[in-house]
Amino acid sequence: MNKEVYIDYAATTYLKKEVLDEMLPYLTEHFGNPSSAHSMSREGKKAIFDSKVKVAKAINASREEIFFTSGGSEADNWAIKGAAFKLRDKGNHIITSKIEHHAISNTCKYLEEQGFKVTYIPVDEEGIIKLDALEKAMNSKTIIVSVMFANNEVGSIQPIKQIGELCRKKGIIFHTDAIQAVGQVEVDVKDMNIDLLSLSAHKFYGPKGIGVLYIRKGINIHNLIHGGSQERAKRSGTENVAGIVGLGKAIELAVDNLKDESERLINLRDRLIKGLLKIKGSKLNGPLGNKRLPGNVNVSFKGVNGEALLIALDRKGIYASAGSACTAGSIEPSHVLQSMGISDEMNKSSIRFSLGAKTNECDIDYLIETIEKIVDDIRNITLEERLIK
Ligand SMILES: *Cc1c(COP(=O)(O)O)cnc(C)c1O
Repeated sequence: MNKEVYIDYAATTYLKKEVLDEMLPYLTEHFGNPSSAHSMSREGKKAIFDSKVKVAKAINASREEIFFTSGGSEADNWAIKGAAFKLRDKGNHIITSKIEHHAISNTCKYLEEQGFKVTYIPVDEEGIIKLDALEKAMNSKTIIVSVMFANNEVGSIQPIKQIGELCRKKGIIFHTDAIQAVGQVEVDVKDMNIDLLSLSAHKFYGPKGIGVLYIRKGINIHNLIHGGSQERAKRSGTENVAGIVGLGKAIELAVDNLKDESERLINLRDRLIKGLLKIKGSKLNGPLGNKRLPGNVNVSFKGVNGEALLIALDRKGIYASAGSACTAGSIEPSHVLQSMGISDEMNKSSIRFSLGAKTNECDIDYLIETIEKIVDDIRNITLEERLIK
């Protein structure tokens, strides 16, 4: 039997046993509606309260600033649309980066159709936003700046504190999609002047379909779902109590283990990078050191189709992602790599490996060895095809 190596933690993580154990009672005996007036509602109500305290502690916010959503995409959508429509009278200009997740970039595109103007700020060759360009783009009509905390494809960590400072000084709302960052690097909404922040449980060993939008006290955005009075009437609907409990437990574990786990991942990450860069024609995409997420590796292999490589890896029990987004068999070059000035050829040859809790040295060495062989094979086949032609 083949060894199996899951190395796609940035796509999603498994649910930790400790998290599931805390969730289970809220799917069975503690099923009361938290909004009911009777005693059966108490457990759920208390669980939601406790989870908010845990999330608030993890990002240095207050409990009243935490709002549960159905996940990261919803939190991103709510932040941008909620702020844009609320502040429409003040201005119609939005600033974001060229490397955002589609939950942000497609929301911005939608807002452009609604009459808003959006500036997409470029990044440097390491995938880090150009601060001077950001500052220059700000004008009296700018109402919101949204820049992700860390990029999901190349792991580049953005200068969030500086962006926050700039926005605060100019009175512009600052949102950050911190979905890849939470649990991997320190996130402090006060220190970093963050007004709105999105996070999602399934990226840090919690359940899928539950996330948070942090809304700083004093920041007003449009309500998302109109209905009952859940989430202070901003996001109505009977709460996903088990999910909320799971998110709370998962974020607590992630933040408690952050220092040790990120150190461990950085060692594994750098071991993988070193091994892969020994393969001829390989190139690392994104920064090195502490400007890169502990769990992210993104490498291009010259002359090797990324999709072919992924399929070959899959056959060997290695589950990774293309650096570019695959849709129905056709690889679209990644907009992130494109904006870093990487050629289409190297773009389509890129693979993202994202490391996590169960990744160990043994996996890394197996990975390096296997990829070396596959890359060699693919290159030989390509050469043979050329010779036949
Ligand atoms: C996963 C991810 C999202 C989407 O979150 P969901 O909870 O899957 O909707 C958004 N932004 C980034 C950076 C992500 O990695």
